[in-house]
Amino acid sequence: METFASPEELHAWCAAQKRLGRAIGLVPTMGSLHEGHLSLIRAAKEKADVVVVSVFVNPTQFAPNEDYEAYPRREQADLALCQGQGADAVYLPRPADMYADDASTWVTETQLAKTLEGAERPTHFRGVCTVVAKLFNIVQPDVAVFGQKDFQQVAVIRRMVRDLNYPIQIIRAPIVRDPDGLAKSSRNAYLTPDARTAALSLSKALRGAQAAVAAGERDAARLEADARAVTTAAGWLPDYVQVVDAETLIPIQTVLPGASAMLLACRRGNLRLIDNTLL
Ligand code: AMP
Repeated sequence: METFASPEELHAWCAAQKRLGRAIGLVPTMGSLHEGHLSLIRAAKEKADVVVVSVFVNPTQFAPNEDYEAYPRREQADLALCQGQGADAVYLPRPADMYADDASTWVTETQLAKTLEGAERPTHFRGVCTVVAKLFNIVQPDVAVFGQKDFQQVAVIRRMVRDLNYPIQIIRAPIVRDPDGLAKSSRNAYLTPDARTAALSLSKALRGAQAAVAAGERDAARLEADARAVTTAAGWLPDYVQVVDAETLIPIQTVLPGASAMLLACRRGNLRLIDNTLL
């Protein structure tokens, strides 16, 4: 497995792979890898001949009041996990390798990125789109794999890929959960045992919505109210609980099974978790 910090060196290696006729898969991550990330690496290996994993805590997607400094970093463990999954290259740049001090160019998706996470975190998707566009330019992958865990992120990236004509297939891989239902997340490391137990209310609320839809419920407002009640009762206060069209992320009143999703974000003190399900 190769490791790179320099964008030029990674780009040259990727170009050499392409000349050998190999399809490249890219898995962008912020590290502290867990089974969710590893499932993306496996999905990429199914679609591509060589897989590049990037591990970069991207400063531009954090607001000044967010957890950039505290975000868990475990580079040695991450390298071992990538190797274990058969990744071919890991890109571990420092911020200075990715951003010039006077960097002044952004990639901004202006529609899907406005609501939900974007409403709570107005500069978040600008940072995500910019770093993902840069990774796409450096690696020039054929396929890139993102997790459904960040449902809105995949929608925003797909829109960016369409609008900017990136010749890259975007795969959305399913959410990997702990056996008790909690969606795996690097930020779960922040949870105290009590907060973690209470956080099971997020996946419980989503399972409740799924069950209600399976039983015939179609009223989005009722599903949202029920889900809010579940997390609130456990002390996780919703920033939003929203039933949306799964493609456009536009809020809907009536669930169309198979084409709708419920997205939620909840806070408890300064902890914040997101989760979602297709309905
Ligand atoms: P992150 O390191 O949190 O930026 O996540 C990197 C990628 O892994 C993103 O595409 C996430 O959606 C994906 N991911 C994170 N957690 C999970 C999970 N529990 N299941 C599936 N994919 C995940």
